[in-house]
Amino acid sequence: MNKIKNIINSIKFRFTLWYLLVLSILMIMLASGVYVTLSQVLHHNLDESLRRRAEQISNFRDVISIVASGTFEEEVEELISFYFYSEKNLRQISHKEIEIPVAQEIIDLAISGISSFSTIERSPGGKFRLYAVCYTPDNPFIRPDRFRRSQDFQEKLEIRRAALIVARPVRDIEATLKGLLQILLIAIPLTLVCAGGGGVFLAGRAFKPVEQITDTAREIEEHDLSRRITVETKDELGRLADTLNQMIERLEKAFNRQKQFTSDASHELRAPLAIIQAESTLALQKVRTPEAYQRSLEIISQESDHMSGVINQLLTLARADAGKEQFTFETIHLQTFIRDMYADVEILCREKNLQLEASLPDPLTVKGDKKSLKRLIYNILSNAIRYTAPGGSILITLGREDATAVVSVSDTGIGIPSNELPFIFERFYRVDEARSRSEGGSGLGLAMCQYIVDMHGGLIEVESQTQKGSTFHIKLPLVTDR
Ligand code: ADP
Repeated sequence: MNKIKNIINSIKFRFTLWYLLVLSILMIMLASGVYVTLSQVLHHNLDESLRRRAEQISNFRDVISIVASGTFEEEVEELISFYFYSEKNLRQISHKEIEIPVAQEIIDLAISGISSFSTIERSPGGKFRLYAVCYTPDNPFIRPDRFRRSQDFQEKLEIRRAALIVARPVRDIEATLKGLLQILLIAIPLTLVCAGGGGVFLAGRAFKPVEQITDTAREIEEHDLSRRITVETKDELGRLADTLNQMIERLEKAFNRQKQFTSDASHELRAPLAIIQAESTLALQKVRTPEAYQRSLEIISQESDHMSGVINQLLTLARADAGKEQFTFETIHLQTFIRDMYADVEILCREKNLQLEASLPDPLTVKGDKKSLKRLIYNILSNAIRYTAPGGSILITLGREDATAVVSVSDTGIGIPSNELPFIFERFYRVDEARSRSEGGSGLGLAMCQYIVDMHGGLIEVESQTQKGSTFHIKLPLVTDR
């Protein structure tokens, strides 16, 4: 039952059904067109031949006498009659002594000069097409001795106007049309059966790749995302398969990133938690000196600070991913903005014996969210401090490049190997994990910076040489005066 339902609901079935329906309508229209046109042409030709014959008969000299004497040259199955009024009675002369069942109205019309065609039923003989036209003899007086066959006309007749009736059977036309109808009645269903079979076959072939795509897609959903759809053709279905493959690839990458992210995040939180547990267990094992407790508590506080930092950054990134991070854009004068941060950073540099310099010549203005821009510049500066050995120096510059303001932070620190550069903006990516952790880093700082820069329509770039130093460029669109 379900199988039947599936077939009825399939595109292939609907396609074939529509195809057959359209084809049947077209074929019926075509057949009716052929039938009607042929019938019209045949009837028209018959009418024309009747008209020409009537004209021919009218031109014979004394044709009524010839017809009456029975010597009229006849054509096969042709019926000819003259109707006229004599002594107020309607009389008939026909060359085969056959009465044609024609309505008096038609005869009267013909005598009065109005010619007409009509179809009559005769038995035997079937249907006849007849033409009634007015006939005016050259010599109105017909001599009775010329009337051989009719006993009625003994006296001399005067015929001023008569109705000439010419009739021919429509049997041939009917036979031709019947033959055509029989051919059509056999040909249409036969063509529909052949076309239907062809349609089912073609639809089956056309939809085979679709079924292939569906099967593979179902398997991919059930098993793993590393599988791809194989459709060799270069047509629309080939392109569909390519697009689906690209989508699956993106999904695979996203799932892998997600997996990596979860494992990195738990790893990042497990390490400080393990330290806190170990330190507290150790401290509680036996009574210790106040200095030892002090040290244990310092380590616990340091690790919980680290954990809280990681959790805060994770929360911010999660909010960013969900599009829930709020930004309030306002005009920011970068010169004053950086200058205000300078004092705090200088204290940190002094603590680590680093020299801090700033070159902020241009008063440049951007539109930005103060809190997040501060976080962005502060992250870059803390990395510079974190990864530069004591005695080194850090330089902040502010410059302009076309329509962008460029904040650059250079340090003389350990630098980043060029093969690592493409990855440093990824979440939890660290060039030297041990070093980063010991310096208090979480591997989330630059990912956050990238997100903030993106939200400001800017760019973040890095140039670095190992053991020489690194320069981070933050490029933000300038506010243009209009
Ligand atoms: P972390 O919290 O570990 O510093 P980030 O995302 O801020 O994480 O940085 C990612 C990695 O990039 C760092 O682990 C570090 O290896 C490298 N890095 C960032 N800034 C610098 C820099 N100024 N000098 C050298 N390496 C850096």
